[in-house]
Amino acid sequence: MIEEIQTRQTEIVQQFMNLVANNQLSHAYLFTGEAGAGQLEVAELVAMRLFCKNVQNNLPCGECSECLRILNQEHPDVVMAKPEGLSIKVDQIRFIKSEFSKSAVEGQQKVFIIEAADKMTIGAANSLLKFIEEPAGTVVTFLISPEKQLILPTIVSRTQVVEFKAVANNLLTAKLTQLGVAPSQQSLLLSLTNDLNQIKEWIQDDWFTKIVNQVIKWDEYLISGNPQAFSQIQMKIMPLVSNRDQQQLVFQLIVALWQETLLVKYGQDIKEVKFQGAKQQLTQAASMNTGQLLLGLKEILNMKAMVDVNVSFQNILESTTLNILAIFE
Ligand SMILES: [Zn+2]
Repeated sequence: MIEEIQTRQTEIVQQFMNLVANNQLSHAYLFTGEAGAGQLEVAELVAMRLFCKNVQNNLPCGECSECLRILNQEHPDVVMAKPEGLSIKVDQIRFIKSEFSKSAVEGQQKVFIIEAADKMTIGAANSLLKFIEEPAGTVVTFLISPEKQLILPTIVSRTQVVEFKAVANNLLTAKLTQLGVAPSQQSLLLSLTNDLNQIKEWIQDDWFTKIVNQVIKWDEYLISGNPQAFSQIQMKIMPLVSNRDQQQLVFQLIVALWQETLLVKYGQDIKEVKFQGAKQQLTQAASMNTGQLLLGLKEILNMKAMVDVNVSFQNILESTTLNILAIFE
């Protein structure tokens, strides 16, 4: 992990290692930029550098007990928060604050990392604000958010903003090949995320291939007006989806597949589609009535609105399926 993040964000890593070495870290940083550019890794690296028992060449060793506890997210003085469900709630921030104050020995180092800080509720953000203003002991807080604009200005003004540039695509492609991802899947994966850790999770046990195939099959039934699209959800898709991230990905895949259908309809070369396994039905769909396709797409895009009002994943898929089947019958 240390080597990888050094290659990807050489300058930022160097800058932060020097700040620690010179004892010049600020109280709070806001890391911005597209997900997966290494924001979380740099925050963890700084924590490791602060606690490592065996610093070498101004870098943490990655092997001592302190480093390992941080890497395994088990270090009592390095605490992370991320959304539970759709948001980071005030209780999560309060809990961490109280944990910190319980063991606040004068001068004892603490690190607080908030992933997806843009998902903090107003209450959580205000609670954090007070904390950044008067940190107990020596605390450094890292906020991670894709964009600065998504964070309350009062918080931004109390942080040092560090912008992470996206990692070059050819570097990512090379990495995917190394991980054993077939070239036919690489552009689809990279259109969904640039986050290598996320990709590693998806491709475990071939999960990504399986879910893509089942979504394609569902779509094939759907555009043929075949009611089997309905049972496809219950029998084939639901068993593969066990958490919110995976649900999110299924929605992303469906939207991407429909967008691609329209692109093919409007002349995109079928050889260049991201869904290599769906060429036949994309060609078929592209020859269909535009009005129907647009009505279908409207249903697809409406899924997000249903997610936002907390309709269950399976219900969203099922009602969308019924509505689209009615269009293509
Ligand atoms: Zn170490």
